[in-house]
Amino acid sequence: MNKKTVRDVDVKGKRVLVRCDFNVPMKDGVITDENRIIGALPTIKYLMEQGAKVVLCSHMGKPHSIFSAEVKLNKKDKKKVESGETTAEAIIEKAKKDEPKKLTLAPVAKRLNELLDGKVAFATDVVGNDAAAKVAACKNGECVLLENLRFHWEEEGKELEFCKKLASYCDVYVNDAFGTAHRSHASTAAIVEYGLVKTAVCGFLIEKELSVMADSLEHPVRPFVAILGGAKVADKLNVISNLLEKCDTLIIGGGMSYTFIKAQGGTVGTSLVDDEKIDYCKDMIKKAKDMGKELLLPVDTVVTKAFPDPIDAPVEIKTVESKAIPDDCMGMDIGEKTRKLFADKVKSAKTVIWNGPMGVFENPMLAKGTIAVAEALAEAKGATTIVGGGDSAAACTQLGFADKITHISTGGGASLELFEGKVLPGIACLNDK
Ligand code: AMP
Repeated sequence: MNKKTVRDVDVKGKRVLVRCDFNVPMKDGVITDENRIIGALPTIKYLMEQGAKVVLCSHMGKPHSIFSAEVKLNKKDKKKVESGETTAEAIIEKAKKDEPKKLTLAPVAKRLNELLDGKVAFATDVVGNDAAAKVAACKNGECVLLENLRFHWEEEGKELEFCKKLASYCDVYVNDAFGTAHRSHASTAAIVEYGLVKTAVCGFLIEKELSVMADSLEHPVRPFVAILGGAKVADKLNVISNLLEKCDTLIIGGGMSYTFIKAQGGTVGTSLVDDEKIDYCKDMIKKAKDMGKELLLPVDTVVTKAFPDPIDAPVEIKTVESKAIPDDCMGMDIGEKTRKLFADKVKSAKTVIWNGPMGVFENPMLAKGTIAVAEALAEAKGATTIVGGGDSAAACTQLGFADKITHISTGGGASLELFEGKVLPGIACLNDK
């Protein structure tokens, strides 16, 4: 890690803007998983103890940029408008009514205030009068949390004036939002890229995420096993290719495995297949062979006749050979033999990284493969085990294995981009050591 961290700068009496990832899951205004808040505490506490005036900012969800003139419709909304189901105006009116309540960071501020001895104030806007007043009133060793950055389209639009306003709150910028470090937005990179804050360093969370993941990728203790799952091959093209170069064994399960199985000449019934990527899969199979790497695919598969609706509805299942899935069946999870095959490989490894479920794990009857992999990681003695965020991280946490795994990343997308070998803009922009 060649980037400066909060330890490398003097923050006493200074105003420090910290980009956090407080995008926590919420239900009816109640935080249902506070992992990301807990993950941000070491940096915040350190800065407070050092006597900084700490200004925290984050996004929450995907609002329609309701505080600004420019409103963006997402893909789902655009489809609804195109199909005549509703109008853009109606969507915006609804967003203006619902989102200030639904996507406010106020519950996060309340929880942070409890965790930090009542030293956290909440600004009800981002670049308005309340934020300016609360930042000005912030004393050394205290905190202010600004409202949801994405209430302004300028956050994702990297708008210069918005960046200038954010920069006016601080002498030092700290990025500790690993979950959004792969995004180049106003608060994650542009504020520094535009030269508006000269001192820009990372927090402890980013430092930890990087040191564990980048280190394991670059200098793995071998054997190094990488496991990829999830829905689509197309989403993980570069990850597959890059990991194949780094690991000794690449395990592919989940929806993406059927395109590989078809590429090998198997029949996959109605399973998820990306026909356009068959040639890519053939290339990867050849690449593995040429490089002397092991590429493991499922040997047996749990199938159903139809996709469960709703997703967690009971289903009739049977197990078949992966390369001979009947025409009227779809592959939904890895079978028992595959679970053992994958688990044994994981348990004999010294470095393991995992991203993506092995099946439609949202359904308890189709979750055995994902659970088996999580369990194997938890049982891999003496190995560095890394879970790259998202669904696989949630599975490990829900199963109670979190403390048996070396590192569970707080960023699904960001960790995948690291696995791809990409440079993350939120980290690249920070001061070098
Ligand atoms: P991703 O976002 O690419 O990591 O994919 C996660 C999603 O993949 C989950 O919602 C799973 O239900 C889905 N998935 C995993 N295996 C399969 C499968 N065999 N068929 C369809 N979807 C799957």
